[in-house]
Amino acid sequence: MAPTLKDLPQIQALLDRPAIADLVTRYSHGEVVEVLRGVIGALRLAFLSGDMPDLPDFASTSFAARVAKQIEAGRAPSLVPVINATGIIIHTNLGRALLAPQAVEAMQMAATAPSNLELDLATGKRGSRHAHVERLICELTGAEAAVVVNNCAAAVLLSLMATAQGRSVVASRGELIEIGGSFRLPDVIAQSGAVLREVGATNKTRIGDYAAAIDDSTAVLLKSHTSNYRIVGFTAAPERRELAKLAQERDVILMEDLGSGVLIDLSPYGLPDEPVVRDILKTGVDLVVFSGDKLLGGPQAGIIAGRRDIVAQLKAHPLMRAVRIDKLSLAALGATLRLYRAPFEPVRDIPVLAMLSAALEEIEGRAHRLAQMLRGIGMAQVEVTESVAYAGAGSLPDQDLPSFAVATALPDMTVELLGAALRRATPPVIGRIAQGKVMLDMRTVAEDELPHIARAFAQISAV
Ligand SMILES: *Cc1c(COP(=O)(O)O)cnc(C)c1O
Repeated sequence: MAPTLKDLPQIQALLDRPAIADLVTRYSHGEVVEVLRGVIGALRLAFLSGDMPDLPDFASTSFAARVAKQIEAGRAPSLVPVINATGIIIHTNLGRALLAPQAVEAMQMAATAPSNLELDLATGKRGSRHAHVERLICELTGAEAAVVVNNCAAAVLLSLMATAQGRSVVASRGELIEIGGSFRLPDVIAQSGAVLREVGATNKTRIGDYAAAIDDSTAVLLKSHTSNYRIVGFTAAPERRELAKLAQERDVILMEDLGSGVLIDLSPYGLPDEPVVRDILKTGVDLVVFSGDKLLGGPQAGIIAGRRDIVAQLKAHPLMRAVRIDKLSLAALGATLRLYRAPFEPVRDIPVLAMLSAALEEIEGRAHRLAQMLRGIGMAQVEVTESVAYAGAGSLPDQDLPSFAVATALPDMTVELLGAALRRATPPVIGRIAQGKVMLDMRTVAEDELPHIARAFAQISAV
């Protein structure tokens, strides 16, 4: 007789069977019950929707093995390494900047040994965690003082809270940015307890607009990097020098949210002439904030650099403790910043900058080597094509980086399905779909990742 809904066992009855009872000794009772509920629930649903599912032999060791396998799958970490073949170097969804080995080593040290994180070894008294990077940041940016927090969003919030709470912040309508969906400058200003005074128009803001908006309540003129868009055509914005002069004359603070701060001139590598943090501070900007894990190439962090009196105010602010940087990131940040000093070369030793400045021939060579490997496993639809890569995360938004990709497709499989199958591979391979192909951009892929990509394709085309 065909099984019916009535033949589904109770969870407790299953737990009493020896093979399942054995699982409870290896895993937790909760995990076993959860998987059993899932199995029985799916079967019940099948009966209720009119299907006639076959029932497994609930007493068998093979059923217990199936349950064990599901428990193991549920135990696997959710956060796993992936291969970034998107061509987007600083990809926020893929964890942004990769750290240099020196930064990883520093994190390992901070994680596994006690450190003088907040101990002044000279006096034996309580020290400041900021001391470990402040001098370095000042040396690299020319700032009088610096402090670091959890990320750039926190840096903006803390800076405004400490300097402009209950007062007004003047910002151009062309720079009221939203980054990554949840960082909206007008909202952050509101959260800080300051009042936003928008000036100018979307495309043009003049120095006179700022000047007219300043009154007794004004604390800050805020300039922001339009990280993920550009206003083109008839545009105008005052020079930093003009803004700095105005801020000084009217005794308000000129602050700039740089987003992705650049510490070195990238123009020798064919990259745009982005102003470096040192030059921005030289124009008279009082305080800059920028991310640690964008073009700087370090861990998640928010760096605040500028006038000593303002930085002192931030250090003393009650919010400081809530947004402080953790010791692992602090260690990685210090190690990354040291790579900007001789004998190191940032464009060689910091992965983000190395990828940005990689020679095109090197990328092309890698594309041909991957194509070769894929043809070697019998793939027919493999082609090396010119491609465009990007810095990502709102860094150098205007800049197309020439690159090479391997364009792939499989017979009898849509590119969407192929893309999804690659994401399910171990390790997952993340490409992008264009021109009816899955494009694997080689600017963001390391040489030793090529065999993993080939293996992923071999697995997919074998099924
Ligand atoms: C990226 C960015 C931020 C946010 O930085 P996080 O480090 O992600 O918090 C803020 N402002 C600008 C202009 C940005 O580009």
